[in-house]
Amino acid sequence: RASVGPKYLAGLNPEQREAVETLDGPVLVLAGAGTGKTRVLTTRIAHILSQGRARPAEILSVTFTNKAAREMKHRLGQMLGHAVEGMPWLGTFHSIGGRILRFHAELAQLKSNFTVLDVDDQVRLLKQLLQAENIDDKRWPARMLAGLIDGWKNRGLMPSQVPSGEAAVFANGKGGKLYASYQERLKILNAADFGDLLLENIRIFREHPDILRQYQQRFKYILVDEYQDTNVAQYLWLRLLSQAPSSASFASPRVRGEADARSAAGEGDSPSTALVETPPHPDLLSASEARRAPASAFAKASADMSGEKEKTKNICCVGDDDQSIYGWRGAEVDNILRFEHDFPGAKVIRLERNYRSTGHILAAASHLIAHNEGRLGKTLRTEDQDGEKVTVTGSWDSEEEARGIGEEIEQLQRQGEKLNEIAILVRASYQMREFEDRFVTLGLPYRVIGGPRFYERAEIRDALAYLRVINSPADDLAFERIVNTPKRGLGDATVQMLHDHARKRRIPLFEAARAVVETDELKPKARGSLRDLVAQFDRWRAQREVTAHTDLAQIVLDESGYTEMWQKDRSADAAGRLENLKELVRSMEEFENLQGFLEHISLVMDREGGAEDDAVSLMTLHSAKGLEFDNVFLPGWEEGLFPSQRTLDEQGRAGLEEERRLGHVGLTRARRRAKIYFATNRRIHGTWSTTIPSRFLDELPAANVEITESKGGSGWGGTGGYGASRFDDMEAFGSSYSTPGWQRAQANRNRGSGRNGGGRSGFEEETSTFSTSSSSGPDFGSF
Ligand code: ATP
Ligand code: MG
Repeated sequence: RASVGPKYLAGLNPEQREAVETLDGPVLVLAGAGTGKTRVLTTRIAHILSQGRARPAEILSVTFTNKAAREMKHRLGQMLGHAVEGMPWLGTFHSIGGRILRFHAELAQLKSNFTVLDVDDQVRLLKQLLQAENIDDKRWPARMLAGLIDGWKNRGLMPSQVPSGEAAVFANGKGGKLYASYQERLKILNAADFGDLLLENIRIFREHPDILRQYQQRFKYILVDEYQDTNVAQYLWLRLLSQAPSSASFASPRVRGEADARSAAGEGDSPSTALVETPPHPDLLSASEARRAPASAFAKASADMSGEKEKTKNICCVGDDDQSIYGWRGAEVDNILRFEHDFPGAKVIRLERNYRSTGHILAAASHLIAHNEGRLGKTLRTEDQDGEKVTVTGSWDSEEEARGIGEEIEQLQRQGEKLNEIAILVRASYQMREFEDRFVTLGLPYRVIGGPRFYERAEIRDALAYLRVINSPADDLAFERIVNTPKRGLGDATVQMLHDHARKRRIPLFEAARAVVETDELKPKARGSLRDLVAQFDRWRAQREVTAHTDLAQIVLDESGYTEMWQKDRSADAAGRLENLKELVRSMEEFENLQGFLEHISLVMDREGGAEDDAVSLMTLHSAKGLEFDNVFLPGWEEGLFPSQRTLDEQGRAGLEEERRLGHVGLTRARRRAKIYFATNRRIHGTWSTTIPSRFLDELPAANVEITESKGGSGWGGTGGYGASRFDDMEAFGSSYSTPGWQRAQANRNRGSGRNGGGRSGFEEETSTFSTSSSSGPDFGSF
């Protein structure tokens, strides 16, 4: 290996350099967090380009988010010393799949200007189908069907391929048929959903080998980041594209819409070589077996693929089995464990030096993940200083936790830290609300990454709209938002008529509604429905005088049918939305009355989101993947919340291991400081519960962790009602810091507080609001 070379290679260590310079054949970089996997991918692209191995349009490069794609392009420019013109195939699976589908739309019975439906559109469409089939959508909610269809698409299953047992779970066996008619409807509407963007690619590739061959010839190099989290559909798509084109005699047609398509004859003249069944690497196999049920969807997909025996070409995937955190959305870590099996002759490169974190942080993260059984096991070392120990701080409750973190951030700011280098990573998105409120109070700029800010979430806006109409009947925007949410048969035509009325008489929509129901302008059904709604609002306004505003909010959500709408909803994010609604009601308690609360909201909403240059980042652990910050705050390490009780209930041990990987991802985001928090009391479903510190705290190595005192004020520190004895307990469990220290301390605290345990019961978290809500922006397309 040459020791001199282009400048961009200079800083790399030998293994990284090998991963960059091994341009031919399949390469897997299997390495832990912060070892430079993403950097290797970027440098590899720079190398391919500067060596003239391929042109920008001949490189297929898959990133985890659109943001990561932009970042990669930017870095490339820095490495090469000039901006990279045109990397049309650098993006997420969905953005690239969508681009390919537009070129061949007619083969999917679409036009190239097809629209991509968001989740709400999808559900609306499915509702129509259910109605047409006379299926009671109260019993069989459209959202449940949407969730099923999504799951099938993630697994690469066309309607005809859905196992009949699975199709039977919906509407007494009609699931499969509904999936088929849904697909037909999409075509008529010239629309595709997110799942289609890849699924239709796969179908086209399989049915039209000539088209597949075009792309196989075009993509000289394929690179994939975060490979451990690809789902079956993504895997199939990659495997199809990564085979060397089977016949050179086939003239290479141009990819429509691209001027620079050229024949890749010479590249493709390898005869179709059988995919040799090489046994997987022994440690790959054992880890795979330890983690997976035998009938894994990947094994099946892989077996299906072996009918298409081809030689693979230059594909480089990077990933980390310890960071596989999307199992709940169809990702299977098997793909990375099977790499050598799927891509025979693959070179597997391991990177062991972590360039990101200090010694204490890395030790804590490594120790934690070592408690997982189903893993390959990796060495990670740093040549960095030990730095500050990871801190663990107990707070009395979540409010004190938010206050304490707010103060620590202000202190860091005074020390000259950039807010951009500070992140708060939560397990459940509803946890963000408390931080957002705190930051608004402090005037601390923040941005929410990977999803809307708490008060901008669809369900929160809906709930607020009800409250705004109660508070001010003239609030037309709010009224229009909820007049037909949940659905009550007041469609666009009705709203249009209300608008006409309101305009003519110069009255608010709500008053127009009151007037219209006295006439016969509306059909009887709509009229009855609108009359009920007006009467409901009148009743709520009267109640407002005699009912606490938090109770009123709960009554409104229940009586309007809004809560029920989400309870019936079986999609992955419904539980999270219900949790957010509870959090909303709870947040109102901090205000004297409805008016005061709504004023606060208008202040929060008024702040420009994300406009600040320097702002604290707030996000879920899931959206933090691949990112790094100098200072990372990790609140809410309590049993039930983290690890999430729902994951444990639904997936048992496998779920626990996925939660632990999530903790590992969280800790390894930190460069210099990682700060963990737990609160002893947290509001769950509107009632306070005593919580138990997360078992993950017991799994941290004592030598790398420091127990600190909350800066939040009233709790542990000694002031207020819980004073001295509690602080003693902290010291006690600090000094005997190992299992069952936390639990013993907890028992003491419970004794003192007179509250009983059981904080876990019925506790639910949410994982997916950020990923499946329609407002989550372009990054939704990354899976
Ligand atoms: P993750 O698993 O979290 O995605 P990763 O393996 O992709 O991590 P990178 O994000 O590529 O790691 O790198 C982590 C940090 O280390 C980055 O700031 C990167 O610039 C730096 N880094 C990587 N390799 C080197 C190197 N050889 N010399 C100096 N810094 C490096
Ligand atoms: Mg990375």
